[in-house]
Amino acid sequence: MKSSKKIKSNFHEKKYQICKRCVMDTSDKFIQFDSNGICNHCRDYLNKRLNVTAYKNQDKNALEDLFKRVRMLRSPNSKYDAAIGISGGTDSSMVAYLASKAGLKVLAIHMDNCWDSPIAAKNIKNLIALPGIDYYCKPLIWNKFKKIQRAFLESGLPDIDLPTDTAIISTVYRVASLFKIKVLLSGGNISNEGILPASWMYNPKDSLFVNSVLKKGGLNPKIMSDIKYGLKLDIKYRFFDNIKTFYPLNKFKYDKYNARKILEKEINWESPIRKHAESIYTEFNQFIYMPIKHNADYRRAHLSQDIILERITRKEALNILKNSAYSQIDTDYIISFVAQKLGYSVEELKTLINNPPLWYVDFPNREKLLNNIYNVFRLLTNRKLSSTWWG
Ligand SMILES: [Zn+2]
Repeated sequence: MKSSKKIKSNFHEKKYQICKRCVMDTSDKFIQFDSNGICNHCRDYLNKRLNVTAYKNQDKNALEDLFKRVRMLRSPNSKYDAAIGISGGTDSSMVAYLASKAGLKVLAIHMDNCWDSPIAAKNIKNLIALPGIDYYCKPLIWNKFKKIQRAFLESGLPDIDLPTDTAIISTVYRVASLFKIKVLLSGGNISNEGILPASWMYNPKDSLFVNSVLKKGGLNPKIMSDIKYGLKLDIKYRFFDNIKTFYPLNKFKYDKYNARKILEKEINWESPIRKHAESIYTEFNQFIYMPIKHNADYRRAHLSQDIILERITRKEALNILKNSAYSQIDTDYIISFVAQKLGYSVEELKTLINNPPLWYVDFPNREKLLNNIYNVFRLLTNRKLSSTWWG
């Protein structure tokens, strides 16, 4: 904790500023503005798009070529061309649907953290009935996972859903490795996940950080041993097992709304009832807990992207942000649902939300070391490792 003190003070004190092109502001502690008042997110997003096949060249066969490559990479010892982590949400469902349509043999892997909505469960059931798709489900033990989620919620960090992210990565890689699968097909895409401020989340691969949060919550770090994903495992899966990740939705001009229409028609898929997310805990985290506690609103990132893509004007976005994401009734419902499920009274949960915020720099971490290690990997392998933490 001592070493992070200096950064910590800069981290917490920043004069308010908002980008002149999009609506990202100093609620992202790492935001940088150029002399024209334009933020790094606008610039980075446009650059990133230029590097994505769908926008770089108008190659109509890009998706077909990707699936061809996936087939060629299949190990003779494996029954499957690829693994796909599925949640029942739009992006991963679309990838599974496209892979099935292309005739790939796929293992769909689901990590059930006990927050699945009935609609997500129904979507998964319909999806795995598609030709060529087998199913593997890893259910977490709720009494154990509940303790982990409580520790993260009580930590004061913004990214209280980190254990879920970790559990997904660790499950998908572990199962892929078990079945000798060489390719993961990810639903990640530039069209929907373009702007993600790094200060709002932290590297789930940093075990010193994860362990310190668990210890602060009075837990033995071993409680996460079967769903943890650290540097050692990353090296094992990506460099020794040589498992590659591809992003099919970046191979064409992917549109989420269009994808939903196709899935509804083809597999009786249902859009998640609530507007923002597949899981009620994600909604709670991104649209209630973080806006109140950290003054950080995920809608800002989504809206900024819509502005850059000219789907919405900056003025319209600013108007949307004047109101909270949910009505008071919806907010009360979500808070009481989360409180009951995690074993708090509504009052206890509200106190936790209103306690002072902490950020990852307030916990022991190995940020610098991990950044250096991944930079060396990039140099050694000349691979374009994704800049996102879980990439
Ligand atoms: Zn901007």
